[in-house]
Amino acid sequence: MSILSYNETDLKETFKNKGYKAFSLNQIFEWIFKKGVKSFDEMTNLSKDLRNFLKKNYSLFSLKLKKTEESKDQETKKYLFELADGYFIEAVLILSDKRKTICVSSQVGCPVKCTFCASGKKGFFRNLLAFEIIEQILQVANDINEKPTHIVFMGMGEPLLNLEELIKAIKIISNEKYLKISQRKITVSTAGILENIEKLREKDLKVNLALSLHAPTDEIRKKIMPYTKKYKLSDLISSLNDYAFNTKRDISFEYILIEDINDSIECAKKLYLLLKDIQCSINLIPYNEIEGLNFKRPNHKKTFEFKSFLLSKKMNVSQRYTKGNDILASCGQLAIKQR
Ligand code: SAH
Repeated sequence: MSILSYNETDLKETFKNKGYKAFSLNQIFEWIFKKGVKSFDEMTNLSKDLRNFLKKNYSLFSLKLKKTEESKDQETKKYLFELADGYFIEAVLILSDKRKTICVSSQVGCPVKCTFCASGKKGFFRNLLAFEIIEQILQVANDINEKPTHIVFMGMGEPLLNLEELIKAIKIISNEKYLKISQRKITVSTAGILENIEKLREKDLKVNLALSLHAPTDEIRKKIMPYTKKYKLSDLISSLNDYAFNTKRDISFEYILIEDINDSIECAKKLYLLLKDIQCSINLIPYNEIEGLNFKRPNHKKTFEFKSFLLSKKMNVSQRYTKGNDILASCGQLAIKQR
């Protein structure tokens, strides 16, 4: 098992029992999190005896990198990992300006099963453990020999349905002893699991929250995101408002534009009315088409008109430039591969 899968207190205990100094553990973490080593042998300030003990009893990582694919513009790179139990997950590196963002998966498959998304199509298999989330980041960082600037929980799975491990992972990612990525540079995207937005708020973390809104009315949302039908949009938005108030973070809404479903000017008007009193940003995402699904991306004119209407109302709107489409690494295209 990966040394990262053990908790620190237990590791310290084991070290003590074997006659190694607890301090060595700090050195090991420094090698893993700060210096990005790929093997125990590279941990040159540890005794040979300790290195042998580590090699015999642990692995450094548990995720096996099986494949990488790079988009033509070289701005997106997708990583396919095999978990110890044979499942596959993906992470994506996105380069833009000075940002190096890693998009991580939080579950194998997805229980939310939005009708337009590839991630839940084959079902839901299991939650990722915190160390499996963290390893995605460490291994991508090792690949580019650099620490990422931003982390987004926008890969496969619904992070708020894996709350405990999500929180553990966030604490380690942001802790200065480990990866030291500010919580302000970490974004958790959610389909909107109301009770868990509230639980997250109580944890007093400072991460950004993005709601996958995708519809301006409960009626349309219910159709395309049936799992979320028990949550009213007005309740979700007010809980996001509370979250923003507590954490002082802005809220963002993701809105996929899907032809003839939610791309009319009528929808744009309703979206404006829904969000006009909230300090937020809206991220428009032209739909990425998925094989086997009947949803289409609207044409440029439609997208432009939708965006222009919101801009004319002084809403804070941006359009997500679709990256990584050629390697199926864009939003909603990460799907489970059978083991
Ligand atoms: N489950 C979380 C995290 C996934 S983030 C959530 O729903 O927010 C992935 C984002 O891509 C979500 O906003 C999701 O709704 C969106 N998405 C899914 N399928 C898509 C597609 N085909 N084209 C564009 N975006 C898509």
